[in-house]
Amino acid sequence: MTPLFVDLQAPNGVEYRQPTGLFINNEFVESSSNKTIVSLDPATERVITTVHAADPEDVNKAVNAARTAFHGPSWKQMPASKRGQLLSRLADLVEENKELFATIDAWDNGKTYHEALESDLVDAISVLRYYSGWADKISGQTTTAIPLKFAYTLRQPIGVVAQIIPWNYPLSMATWKLGPALACGNTVVLKPAEQTPLSILVLADLVKKAGFPPGVVNIVNGYGREAGTALVEHPLVDKIAFTGSTATAVGIMTAAAKTLKNITLETGGKSPLLVFEDADLDQAVKWSHMGIMSNQGQICTATSRILVQDSIYDDFVEKFLCRVQAVSKVGNQWEKDTYQGPQVSKSQYDQILGMIDIGCQEGAVLAAGGHPVDVGGKGFFIAPTVFTNVRPSMRIFKEEIFGPVVTIMRFATEEEAITVANTSIYGLGAAVFTTHLERAHRVADQIEAGMVWINSSQDSDVRVPFGGVKQSGIGRELGEAALEAYTQIKAVHVNMGSKL
Ligand code: NAD
Repeated sequence: MTPLFVDLQAPNGVEYRQPTGLFINNEFVESSSNKTIVSLDPATERVITTVHAADPEDVNKAVNAARTAFHGPSWKQMPASKRGQLLSRLADLVEENKELFATIDAWDNGKTYHEALESDLVDAISVLRYYSGWADKISGQTTTAIPLKFAYTLRQPIGVVAQIIPWNYPLSMATWKLGPALACGNTVVLKPAEQTPLSILVLADLVKKAGFPPGVVNIVNGYGREAGTALVEHPLVDKIAFTGSTATAVGIMTAAAKTLKNITLETGGKSPLLVFEDADLDQAVKWSHMGIMSNQGQICTATSRILVQDSIYDDFVEKFLCRVQAVSKVGNQWEKDTYQGPQVSKSQYDQILGMIDIGCQEGAVLAAGGHPVDVGGKGFFIAPTVFTNVRPSMRIFKEEIFGPVVTIMRFATEEEAITVANTSIYGLGAAVFTTHLERAHRVADQIEAGMVWINSSQDSDVRVPFGGVKQSGIGRELGEAALEAYTQIKAVHVNMGSKL
């Protein structure tokens, strides 16, 4: 029998108590089937610990707990400002434990400790703070155009929300989902990715400490096909918010259609980055390197297709390769000078190496990397990989690789660059590097993407909507837009004396 808590010591020396159960009704409980998920350190392939995995019966318990909490007085009648205070307290607790969270996500996911601490944790805390402020500012409208009548709208929570998240930013993805859902008064059953089950269980403990009533937040670790499917198909789930691959999203949308569930989907991408001949070349090189190589290339918005104008193509490639050489130290996640840790899992590692082989077979020029890196004989390390002379018809240019692999190709005119950038089934992010003011905004207008960065890459701000067009998703997270995703509008018509 898997215990419900284990005492662990991470490779950086941090000691803590790791919950391992399912979190239902503010308690850690065992899975009913005794199924488990083994959490691995992707740098050493050593087992960190084993956690309980939910089956459909456990999912049913969690959904019912969320349903009861949604209708129960302690949540339903809680003043909105109090909901905000709970979120604010949760933000404080996460901040007090930020080194612990950065440790766990670095260990479980393989991301570097410094990136987890300086990026993921800053993001997670600010998301919770931001939505704590929104809780008591969500309101409807009034319309008074007709004599003796008026109408008003109420913005109400949707109900029980199923939230399914990926492994690339475990804690911060959880906060992106929980923050707006709870600010709006919903209750939640969240399923983390099976590759990274740990930090979210520690967050669950803090949810209880912050004072959320039982059943408002439920966390069920589990496998996608089993727990994920049970959650998506559950008749008492009112909304699904999903982040993950486009293929999984298609299945989720199909299942959700059976009971017409409200959905928000954040899916894959193959984001273009356009460098024009008038760009600040050194800055373009630095941003474009970061835009694909940070977080081991496991970024949904990664600018993985770089398009460079003919006259500066050779210079750009040379500088980009120097940047890769100088910056991308591959190593374990704890060393201060490591830029790139291991990929999250053996399966991702194999898929990425498989796509690199395909790129070579397709005739692209392998200008850097393309092979595993030996870091102590174990782990899922891949050298930062650069393909040049890439053509739009190649699979490596079209398909999401989700690793440290970039494709670079040349273009002649602005029109051609936009056309090639837009020949993708995806439309998540896009970047444009130019010092030409009109061109910058013209390209931003014409490019098919949910987000455009001008002379930058990967900017994300809690106040700014995040999401994609085409097969990169439906709906938006972050900013005020996320409140729309987690509320529904009720219209109330009032007769002030109009007689028939
Ligand atoms: P994935 O779709 O396999 O898994 C994501 C989540 O869905 C996991 O929790 C998984 O358990 C669950 N899941 C899997 N099958 C399911 C099913 N049949 N029913 C219900 N849930 C199921 O994705 P992945 O490979 O783990 O993650 C990488 C992908 O996620 C990439 O394609 C990436 O672009 C995308 N992603 C997108 C964003 C975004 O905001 N747009 C952010 C991060 C990752």
